[in-house]
Amino acid sequence: MSDRDLSQAGFETRAIHSGYEPDPTTGAVIPPIYATSTYAQDGVGGLRGGYEYSRSANPTRTALESTLAALEGGARGFAFASGLAAEDTLTRALCKPGDHVVLPDDAYGGTFRLFDKVEQGWGLPHSPADVSDVDAVAAAIRPGETRMVWLETPTNPLLTIGDIAAIAEVAHDAGALLVVDNTFASSYLQQPLALGADVVVHSTTKYAGGHSDVVGGAIVVRDADLAERIGFHQNAIGAVAGPFDAWLTLRGLKTLALRMERHCDNAERVVDFLTSHPAVGDVIYPGLETHPGHEVAQRQMRRFGGMVSFRVTGGEEQALAVCAATEVFTLGESLGGVESLIEHPGRMTHASVAGTELEVPSDLVRLSVGIETPDDLVADLARALG
Ligand SMILES: *Cc1c(COP(=O)(O)O)cnc(C)c1O
Repeated sequence: MSDRDLSQAGFETRAIHSGYEPDPTTGAVIPPIYATSTYAQDGVGGLRGGYEYSRSANPTRTALESTLAALEGGARGFAFASGLAAEDTLTRALCKPGDHVVLPDDAYGGTFRLFDKVEQGWGLPHSPADVSDVDAVAAAIRPGETRMVWLETPTNPLLTIGDIAAIAEVAHDAGALLVVDNTFASSYLQQPLALGADVVVHSTTKYAGGHSDVVGGAIVVRDADLAERIGFHQNAIGAVAGPFDAWLTLRGLKTLALRMERHCDNAERVVDFLTSHPAVGDVIYPGLETHPGHEVAQRQMRRFGGMVSFRVTGGEEQALAVCAATEVFTLGESLGGVESLIEHPGRMTHASVAGTELEVPSDLVRLSVGIETPDDLVADLARALG
């Protein structure tokens, strides 16, 4: 829909101007929510704007998909009903039964469940790898069988960093594709396609949407053949983003850069506070020089993000008490919204991996640091930690 050439424009300009030109009849500067399932044709096959049915394409979704592609530096973007819908569609587009997948050994729990309980039953075995160790990823690849290497960086909730460029090389050497789940960093902080990844996926529910008011997912690719296969599967499977969801996500993306800068500022303030607090043990944040992935993160991320994890010195009981005591940090799952959230991964987001190799420490607390007044966030944590 957009005919302006924004390929040389900066991130913020692309976020605001990609994907849509002011409406030629009304001048509307923001794409309408095209709440329509079908489109009138001028004679059989005479499509007016290229649209024939809204599972295949819808103008509000098109505006979002173009913006997603522009922000990741990709050729095409695709918007889905959720992050997991995007992952499932991607897997069916790229793999066939008998192929093999390498997964991070601390993959997002929903991603692990999808591959372990759904894709495996379809005939797609998977192997875990520690993505902070390139040799471990290389060792998990089965040449000739591994079709996808899946990478998250930073991971959830331990914020492990994987070297995108190095892992792209080992994947490509073995004839596999590298998929990067860029949800935690967002397109603003990290550009996996430029580092050699073949596919980027997002849960746009998180930083992309950014306001905790919509669930959605995205895929962005550089290669035209891959784009065609994913487009075919998006339409054939049909797990697409509806027009209102697409509109909310597009609205969120316009302020992604501003929000991420503030998420990072506030996270740094919180990290400063936590590292000197007597009731706090390890503070896990890729921006800390003590973080084992700090150097790689510095190379591949613009800044270090809004997610912070820490361990308390008083064990699980204290971790649960801190989560119950904050007032500005809301106790809840999910992340990436304007409001700060606190959670206990062991009992909440990661309860389903207890007893497996993905189990997380019981004294761990995870923060999604929002964009509130930083002094209020620090005061809230100070009160909760006692
Ligand atoms: C939330 C999340 C997903 C799944 O996305 P949904 O929108 O909840 O389906 C995938 N990967 C990561 C890293 C996530 O945080």
